[in-house]
This record gives sequence, C-alpha cells and structure tokens, in this order.
Amino acid sequence: MEATRSTTDLTDELTTWLQIEADSLCRTTLNRAPNLLPDKEDITGFLNVVINHITDPRDVQFSAIQNWAYLHIGQDALVASNWVTLLRVIKAEIGDRLEMDFPAQVALHHWRQLDGLFTFALVETSQLARDEDRATMLEHMTKLRQQMARLERAKTDFVSVASHELRTPLTILEGYVNMLRVEVDAESPLSAYVNGLVSGTQRMQEIINDMIDVSLIDLQSFDLNYQQFYLEKIILIAADNLDKHFRERNVTLTIANLPLEQLRIFGDPVRLLKAFSKVLLNGLKYTPDGGTVRVSGELSRQDEADEDIMGYIDIQVQDSGIGIPADDLEQIFDKFTSGLDVNLHSSGKIKFKGGGPGLGLPIAKGIIEAHGGRIWAESAGRDEQTLPGSTFHIELPLWRHQPDLVSYN
Ligand code: ADP
Repeated sequence: MEATRSTTDLTDELTTWLQIEADSLCRTTLNRAPNLLPDKEDITGFLNVVINHITDPRDVQFSAIQNWAYLHIGQDALVASNWVTLLRVIKAEIGDRLEMDFPAQVALHHWRQLDGLFTFALVETSQLARDEDRATMLEHMTKLRQQMARLERAKTDFVSVASHELRTPLTILEGYVNMLRVEVDAESPLSAYVNGLVSGTQRMQEIINDMIDVSLIDLQSFDLNYQQFYLEKIILIAADNLDKHFRERNVTLTIANLPLEQLRIFGDPVRLLKAFSKVLLNGLKYTPDGGTVRVSGELSRQDEADEDIMGYIDIQVQDSGIGIPADDLEQIFDKFTSGLDVNLHSSGKIKFKGGGPGLGLPIAKGIIEAHGGRIWAESAGRDEQTLPGSTFHIELPLWRHQPDLVSYN
C-alpha cells in the first residue's frame, strides 16, 4: 500500500523519477518557453541541484539555491527574469506529470518535497531581476538628474549672458530717449510718443535688472550689504513707491500692527525693499479693482532665541484677490512660472492679472533666504468669482548684532 511506504522510499522514488524525466522535462520546458537565454544544460544543472537537495533541511536548501543563483545568474537581470519564466514552466510541468504518473496522495507528497526548493528559486530569481531593474532605474535617474542640472545651468548662463548683452543697447536707447525728451516740447503731439518710449525703456530696464538678479541668485553670487535699519520704514517706502499704482487701480493698501516701530533690524535694506515691493506689487496685480492689500506683522519663533537671534518677525501681505491653486503654492517661487498659465500673461506691470516674466517671487525668495529667512504663500485656492485672496509670509531673523556670514540657502 502507498500509504505504508516509508519516507525514504518515497524520496528515492521521486529522485529516480526526476532523473528519468530530466531530459524530457528540459525539452518540454524549452518548447513551452522558447527563445530564452538559459539552455538545456542550464536547466539540467538546476534540476540536479533540486535532485541533490530534496532531503536537505530548509536552510541548506536555501543556501544551495542561493549558490546556484550566484553561479548561474550573477547580476544579469535579463537571465534572472528568464529564469523566473522557466521556473514557473518547469514547476507547472512537473506538477502535471506527477499527477499523471502517481496516485493523488503520492503525487501530493512528491510535490510538497519539491515545493520549498522551487519557491526559494523563484524568490531568489525575482529578487535578482528586481535588484537589477532598480539599479538600472537608479542609474537612469542619476543621468536624468545630471542632465537637468546641466540644463538648469545652461538656462542660468543664458539668462545671465542675455541680460548683460541687452543692457548695453538698452543704455544707448535710454540715452536717445532722454535726449528726445529734452528736445520735444511737452505741448507737442509727439510728447505722447516720447512718454511711451520712456516708460517702455524703463520697463525693459526693470525686466533686465530682474534677469540679472535672478541669475546672481542662481549662481549664488549675490552679496548682501548688511546695515541696521527700521524694517517698518522699508515697508513704508515700498508702499509709498507703489501708492500711485494702487490708487490707479482703486485697490486699498493698508499697513497695520507692525510690532517693530522701534526695533531696528540687521539686513540689506535695498534688497529687502526690492523683495517687499515684489510681493506688494503682486498683491495689487492679482487683486481686482476695488480690493484690498493689507500688510501686518507679528513676532514669531521667539522660543528659538539664542545668543545671535532674538527670534523672528513674520510680515504678512494679505490680499483680497483671485488666490492661488494649492498645487502652485510652492511652484510660484520657481523662476519663469508665470508661463504656467499663459492667460495670465500680459505686458502691463500693474494691470489686473498682468503676469510678468515670472521673476518677482524667485527674486523675493532669493533675497529673503539670503537673509536667513523664509517666504511662503497661503491661499484657499484660486477663484475669480469668490476671490479667496492670498497671504504671503515673509519671515526674517532678528539678529542681535550684525551677522558675519549668513548661509545662503
Ligand atoms: P509674475 O508676476 O511676473 O508672473 P511672480 O514671480 O511675481 O511673477 O509670480 C509668479 C506667479 O505667482 C504669478 O504669475 C501668479 O500666478 C502667482 N502669484 C503671485 N502673487 C500672487 C498673488 N498675490 N495672488 C495670486 N497669484 C499670485
């Protein structure tokens, strides 16, 4: 009776059966899975490993399979994935043949004896195929990253060269425009054209200066001229410079609750004036006529005070404008992002939704970060009907003394 036969007998039977079947198993497998790299000899080699380790304990079987994989697959991902296919075919073929050649219970017993070895082999080969895939993907990603860094560098170089090259002819143009302004009588019908030329060249000058600033920030060759000054004054000057534009668009600009009336901070006032002006101007640009832009401030992160820093000041610029989609809240600080939505593009500097070249926020960010501060935006989303508005936070450290060196990023 099959059930009374000893385990040794059954194992001997399986081993003999496998030895007899090996040749035909190889042929059938290669027919069912053609055009793979391993050949008949390789498959016979694997079957020999199986035959030699059928009775071994699990850990010995596992290291035998590892050894086999190391010798016959190595780091070759293609061979490894070929083996995954082959092993599945061999396993299925053995299953079918066991069912045909033995009574059900014996077939099951034999199957169980082989199962561990096949499982180890499948796990090991799949792992090798995946490891190698991962390595290829990593290599590909590294290449892409290097390519992106090169492109980014080329873009910065281009912006830097283009802005410097444009500056020379623009200076000549400005010279002639100024001469024309002197020559043309204010009452003359030509004076409107001259005024157009003047504001056009001024706007070009501003854009070129922004391009130079952004490339200096990118190249990290952007010096700060530290002085001690009243931050509130800088905000008031920025507001004052833009006042006529706010009035033109009937947008109310208010400055409230600045806790720094008496506190003088260390920083580069010229650069900070530029940063605040950019953010205030955006508040105007993305708020429809009749809206509001409000500047306020509060002390923050006071618990982080140490011998160098007293804490931080968080200046908030809140507008009642169209708002910013959640997905864009970080991206808007990358240069040239106004290209994201060409509908927002217009040449008007203060026109509602008059998107510019997309350099304002990257410059503001570069300046604030160079001061050891942070800038970020908050908004409930963009909606031109409900006008959820946006709030820009500019957080600057309050130095106790003039800092020697502020890390750039
Ligand atoms: P620009 O205004 O020249 O397009 P910026 O760098 O100043 O470039 O701003 C980038 C983008 O951020 C803008 O095009 C606009 O989409 C968005 N943005 C900036 N400030 C605001 C704001 N206050 N409200 C809504 N969107 C804003």
